Amino acid sequence: MEIIATVKEMQQRSEQLRREGKSIAFVPTMGYLHKGHLSLMHEGRKRRDVLVISIFVNPTQFGPGEDYEKYPRDMKRDLALVQGAGVDIVFTPSAHEMYPDGFQTVVEVEQVTKNLCGISRPGHFRGVTTVVAKLFNIVKPHFAFFGQKDYQQLIAIKRMAEDLTMDIEVIGMPTIREPDGLAMSSRNSYLDPKQRKEATSLYRALLKGAELFRQGERSAAAILQEVRKIIEEGKSAKIDYAKICDAHTLKDIDEIKNEALIALAVTIGKTRLIDNIILKEE
Ligand code: AMP
Repeated sequence: MEIIATVKEMQQRSEQLRREGKSIAFVPTMGYLHKGHLSLMHEGRKRRDVLVISIFVNPTQFGPGEDYEKYPRDMKRDLALVQGAGVDIVFTPSAHEMYPDGFQTVVEVEQVTKNLCGISRPGHFRGVTTVVAKLFNIVKPHFAFFGQKDYQQLIAIKRMAEDLTMDIEVIGMPTIREPDGLAMSSRNSYLDPKQRKEATSLYRALLKGAELFRQGERSAAAILQEVRKIIEEGKSAKIDYAKICDAHTLKDIDEIKNEALIALAVTIGKTRLIDNIILKEE
């Protein structure tokens, strides 16, 4: 496994691989890896010649007062974890390597980033799409893998790749969960044991919403009332948003037609968790 820390070296390596006719799969991460990340790598490994991952805690996607400084980092542990995952190259740039002095260009996807986390985290998606565009230019992948756990991020990146005619296939992968249903996340490490128990309410609430939909309920308000009730049973849970949106435009909807997204952001103690589920007519 190669470890590359500079943009130039990574670009040259990718250029060389492309010249050799190799297909490149790419999994960008912020590290502190878990089975969710590993599932993306596992998929990336399939039918492609080279698997590149990046580990970079991107400062521009954190707002002031968010957890950039204390975001969990453990490079040694991460590298040990990916040894057995078929990773060929780990790209681990510094913040200065990615954002040298004078940096001033951004990539902004305008519409699908407006709702949901776009309201509570202004500038977040601009940071995400800018860094992913840069990573795409550095790693030059043919395929890039993202988790549906960050559904709005996945939609924004798909949009960006299409709108900017990037020649990259963006592939969304299912959310990997703990045995009790909590979506795996590097931020789960912030939760104390009591909060960790409470955190199961997000998925329980989503399942309840999906059950109501299956039983024929199509009113977003009626479903969201039950979803909220389950989360509000937790003492330290505070709902940032609980919404039902069009699964493609991410605009709020009142009446579900054939496909929709229930999206949640909940703060438990000081930890902000997100999760979602797709509702679809069978
Ligand atoms: P992060 O390191 O949190 O920025 O995540 C890196 C990639 O892993 C993103 O594409 C995430 O959507 C994806 N990811 C994070 N958690 C999960 C999960 N529980 N299941 C599947 N993919 C995930």
